[in-house]
Amino acid sequence: MNGTIRVGNLFGIPFYIHPSWFLVLGLVTWSYSGGLLAQFPQLPGGLGLLLGLMTALLLFASVVAHELGHSFVAIRQGIDVKSITLFIFGGLASLEKESKTPAEAFWVAIAGPLVSLILCGIFTAIGVTTPVSGPIAAILGVLATVNLALALFNLIPGLPLDGGNILKALVWKITGNPYKGVSFASRVGQIFGWVAIASGIIPLIFFGSLANVWNLLIGFFLLQNAGNAAQFARVQAKLDGLTAADVVTTNSPIISANVSLREFADEQIIQGWRRFLVTDDDGQLIGAVVADDLRTIPTTQWSETEVKQIMRPVAASTTVKSDQPLLEVIQLLEQQKLSALAVIRENGVLVGILEKTAIIQLLQNEPLANPA
Ligand SMILES: [Zn+2]
Repeated sequence: MNGTIRVGNLFGIPFYIHPSWFLVLGLVTWSYSGGLLAQFPQLPGGLGLLLGLMTALLLFASVVAHELGHSFVAIRQGIDVKSITLFIFGGLASLEKESKTPAEAFWVAIAGPLVSLILCGIFTAIGVTTPVSGPIAAILGVLATVNLALALFNLIPGLPLDGGNILKALVWKITGNPYKGVSFASRVGQIFGWVAIASGIIPLIFFGSLANVWNLLIGFFLLQNAGNAAQFARVQAKLDGLTAADVVTTNSPIISANVSLREFADEQIIQGWRRFLVTDDDGQLIGAVVADDLRTIPTTQWSETEVKQIMRPVAASTTVKSDQPLLEVIQLLEQQKLSALAVIRENGVLVGILEKTAIIQLLQNEPLANPA
């Protein structure tokens, strides 16, 4: 998320807050202290404000606890939690990867709402079993209610909500296909998104009422995220089972280390590539040569100079194994901001070059592998 501020670690997980969160903190503090002061007029204004702030912070702590619920279950499955972020619509635990089985995905998804339900139970129990009264009892009631609402809202069965992830796991379990699960659950999420938008827009248009404007915002948020999830699933479905070797460019720019610069210059003109991968007699990748480097050698010496004399080393980070899954290759291209990678077999023999554009073409042209 853009513009988030890192505020430290929670159990080793980087913890971020989006600036929009402070706006919500202010609004929640203001509305709860206002509510408390109206309910308990004898309360000094400063104390009311302080209690309002404390309530708001406890509400956000509840949201964090919910996200930690997801995170701990994910960590137990060997999944890294990249971050927990608080933002205008609540919290978000960003997981490094998906669970391996539908059952595991189910447990990650349900863990958050379970934590919220448990917190609701704890706040209710404290309110009922201890002799608290007045503002503290009211705050406990609010905390219990909000945690219950947090659990129930998140259980709405559409992506990106937890209920959507539970639905995804169920469809995955039934069909044996994780992408069908995402596709179905994100479609349901889009329906809920439209319902939320309609519930915000209808009062606005017909009665000029802003009462449900929040629904409108939530609706757009759901719609956008459900759409992203569906698109990501389509990409994954299409690339599933493919490896780096499947998108290697035919007639890749490969040149033997022993050829002369004269031959290289001719080859370069015929093929039109700017950069060639250089192989030894066994076909192993040993470097790369760029057409511009020809200029460093006088033309008169091109016949007796070999490519290996002007070649540059190739960083291991710009090569991939031919059997590497294409999804991992895309991540690598994104992380390293590369447009091409050299593909090599297990034994070090060069297969060819893999270009980012080839993957983009594949995604645009090929029919869906798993139409859902
Ligand atoms: Zn959740």
